[in-house]
Amino acid sequence: MPWSFDYLIVGAGFAGMTIAERLVSTKGARVLIVERRNHIGGNAHDHYDDAGVLIHRYGPHYFRTNAPRIRAYLSKFTDWTPVDYTIKSFTRDRYWNFPVNLNTFEQLIGRPATSGEFVDWLEQNKVSIENPRNSEEIILSQVGHELYELFFKGYTLKQWKRHPRDLDASVCGRIPIRTNRDDRYLKEEFQALPSAGYHRIFERMAQAMGENVKILLNTDYREVLPHVQFDHMVYTGPIDAYFDFAHGKLPYRSLRFEFESFEGKDLADRESVSGKPGFWQPAMQVNYPDESVPWTRIVEIKHATGQQCLPTTIVREFPEDFGAGKEPYYPVPNAESAAVYKKYKEMADALPNVSFIGRLATYRYYNMDQVVGMALAEADKLQSREI
Ligand SMILES: Cc1cc2nc3c(=O)[nH]c(=O)nc-3n(C[C@H](O)[C@H](O)[C@H](O)COP(=O)(O)OP(=O)(O)OC[C@H]3O[C@@H](n4cnc5c(N)ncnc54)[C@H](O)[C@@H]3O)c2cc1C
Repeated sequence: MPWSFDYLIVGAGFAGMTIAERLVSTKGARVLIVERRNHIGGNAHDHYDDAGVLIHRYGPHYFRTNAPRIRAYLSKFTDWTPVDYTIKSFTRDRYWNFPVNLNTFEQLIGRPATSGEFVDWLEQNKVSIENPRNSEEIILSQVGHELYELFFKGYTLKQWKRHPRDLDASVCGRIPIRTNRDDRYLKEEFQALPSAGYHRIFERMAQAMGENVKILLNTDYREVLPHVQFDHMVYTGPIDAYFDFAHGKLPYRSLRFEFESFEGKDLADRESVSGKPGFWQPAMQVNYPDESVPWTRIVEIKHATGQQCLPTTIVREFPEDFGAGKEPYYPVPNAESAAVYKKYKEMADALPNVSFIGRLATYRYYNMDQVVGMALAEADKLQSREI
C-alpha cells in the first residue's frame, strides 16, 4: 500500500509551511511535506553558529509588512522584536548614511543643509526621464548621475552581473530616496524580527499540525513520487525544474556567504569603527558599491536581533553565477526571462491538481510576507474545493 495523503507539499519554506499549516488546521487535511535541504524554513532559516550567535544562514531576512492579516497569522507562532533596520554604504573610504536622505546629502557636500536645499539640488541634478524603463533610468530620474555612480551603479553591476540599464526599473526602484532624515532602510509599517528566531516559527507550525503532517527532509520530491498517493500537489520549487526545463533554464543569480566570528581583543579593537562594544561594524548592514571590492555587503545581524552575547558574527556576501551546486537566489527580472517564465506559467495553469506558489514557483522576487500572503490565499482557494 503506498503512503496516502490529501496533499503533497514540495518545499518547507514560508510558502510550503504556511499552506500546510492552514490546510491541516482548518480542514483536518493530511499532508506530506518533502524538503531537499536538511532543515525546514527554506531561505528564512536561522540558527546559532559555533560562536553562539544567531545567524541567518541564507542572507539577512528583515521581516516587514503592511498587511494586518499576515502579521496576525504569523503572530500565532512568534512574538516580535521591533527593529529599525539601518544600513550604511562604504565608499570613498568612509561610511555613508543610506538609503539616500538628507544626512547623505550633508556628507556629500561636507556641511549641514536643509531639506529644501536637498530638494533644489535634486531638481538641478536629476535627469528628466518621463517613463523610466530600467534601473539606470529610474535612479537617474530621481537623484542624477553623481549619487547613481556613488551608490547604485557598481553595486548593481556586481550583484546582477548586468548593467542597471538591462534590469527592470523595479530592481533599483524599490530603494527609497528621501529628502528628510529618515534613515530607515524599509518603508513598511511593521518592521520586526521573530523574537526567538525564524526557526521557532517553523517548529511551532510543525507542532500545530501534529500527527496530520509528515515532514521528509534531505529528500527530493521526485524520489517519493512513485511511493505516495495524494489528491493535490503544492509545488514551491523552481518552476522550470518541474517541467524538466522544457523551455530552457530560467536565469538566477546565486550567492556565496562567508561567515566570520569575532570576540575578545579582536572585537574590542573594532570599537573605534563600530562605535559600541561587542560589534564589528557601525550598522546591521554595510553596502560596498565599489567594483574593486568583491563582496556586495557585510551583514552583522546581531545589530537587529538584539541578542545579548559577547561574540559577534559577520557575513560577507559574494554574488555568483547560478549553476551546478548553487542555490537559485534571485530571479533575474528582464524581458527575456519574463518571456520564458510565461511559457512555463501556461503549462502550470493547465494542471488543475498542482498549485505553484512561492518565489521559485512563480519566478519572482517576493518578500516573506508576500509569500505568506500568497500561501494563505491559495489555502483559502483549496479549502473551498472538495478533494
Ligand atoms: C539573500 C536573500 C535575502 C532575502 N532577504 C529578505 C528580507 O530581508 N526580507 C524578506 O521579506 N524576504 C527576504 N528574502 C526573500 C525570502 O527568502 C522569501 O520571500 C521566502 O523565503 C520565500 O519562501 P518560499 O517558501 O517561496 O521559498 P524558499 O524559502 O526558497 O523555500 C523553497 C524550498 O523548496 C525546497 N525545494 C526546491 N525544490 C525542491 C525539490 N525538488 N524537492 C524538495 N524540496 C525542494 C528548497 O530547498 C527550499 O527550502 C530574501 C531572499 C534571499 C535569497
